[in-house]
Amino acid sequence: MRAVQYHTVGQPPELRRIPEPEPGPGEVLLEVTAAGLCHSDIAVMNWTAEEFPYPLPLTLGHEGAGRVAALGSGVHEFSVGDSVIVYGPWGCGQCHACARGKENYCLHAAERAIRPPGLGAPGALADYLLVDAPRHLVPIGDLDPVRTVPFTDAGLTPYHAIKKSLPKLVPGSTAVVIGAGGLGHLAIQLLHALSPAHVVALDISEDKLAIAREVGADEVLLSDEHAVGKVRDITEGRGAELVLDFVGNDATGRTAAGCAGIESDLTIVGVGGGSLPVGFGLTPFACSVSAPYWGGRDELIELVRLVEQGVVYSEVEVYSLDEVPHAYAGLESGTINGRAVAVP
Ligand code: NAD
Ligand code: ZN
Repeated sequence: MRAVQYHTVGQPPELRRIPEPEPGPGEVLLEVTAAGLCHSDIAVMNWTAEEFPYPLPLTLGHEGAGRVAALGSGVHEFSVGDSVIVYGPWGCGQCHACARGKENYCLHAAERAIRPPGLGAPGALADYLLVDAPRHLVPIGDLDPVRTVPFTDAGLTPYHAIKKSLPKLVPGSTAVVIGAGGLGHLAIQLLHALSPAHVVALDISEDKLAIAREVGADEVLLSDEHAVGKVRDITEGRGAELVLDFVGNDATGRTAAGCAGIESDLTIVGVGGGSLPVGFGLTPFACSVSAPYWGGRDELIELVRLVEQGVVYSEVEVYSLDEVPHAYAGLESGTINGRAVAVP
């Protein structure tokens, strides 16, 4: 089968031919219908050889959708042909976090080297994807896999980040979204679907700001040295109740802290390598800073309900598997609008 593999640190990924996997006991083989490209893959491919934690070559793609192609022995939950999406942050399935569906915070995944597809395990940018357990599949029925696959990460991660802040997003509140890309353009819609908050989107690209407006941002601002003052004006000096930073570098961290109000949530989702001084006089009084990871299994099921209701919608740019290296270059240089999705 064909697979997009990252094979050598520092080299672009390549489309290669590798053996088709076979499902062992308890596993499910999917024929991939769609696979999303995430900016986290760029971060992974920018690690040095010393930092690189996964075996190479690595088949990329941690957002996957597919049709069930074959069932390993003992799997009775699905039938061949079922259309599904893949819950990516695989955990042990047994610990206290996994028991609550929070496999993204599994207590044993790191020590047991249980890794997500595309982030250690072979990923979805291929003709076939092996899934370790049926609990990591969510049926999507007649939903379009190309439009649905971005919700497995670009949707699930902001959904998880926003849900914990909902008590603060009361009528009259403001939520700031920094970075209106793959995750950010879905975060804007999720904020509207889940809360009455006024949504302000910041980006450095006019194209991304145009998308932010199309998907429902109440205000859009260039992410520059004037942005903090403008957010302060919009909130009558109070600052925002929630700031979501989908970039996570030093500059956006400063902007995020400047936009945040007293008792706000400052949530850093982007893995841009920045650091943020937190403390008395550095961040607003009682501002909670957190850096959440991906989302829960329960949350992906909830999110599919929202997609079915048609209240959230992913902008996509569709590529073939052999165009994926080119699409990653576009993602790195900031020219992809919405989510880049590969269709084998
Ligand atoms: P993306 O490239 O699609 O979007 C990033 C957006 O940020 C772009 O629109 C870009 O123009 C904008 N941007 C860049 N610099 C900016 C600045 N200084 N101010 C404002 N906007 C700026 O990326 P994505 O796939 O949406 O991922 C976003 C981030 O989230 C990445 O860092 C990714 O690694 C991270 N991520 C984290 C998790 C998690 O679990 N924490 C999960 C998925 C992705
Ligand atoms: Zn991702």
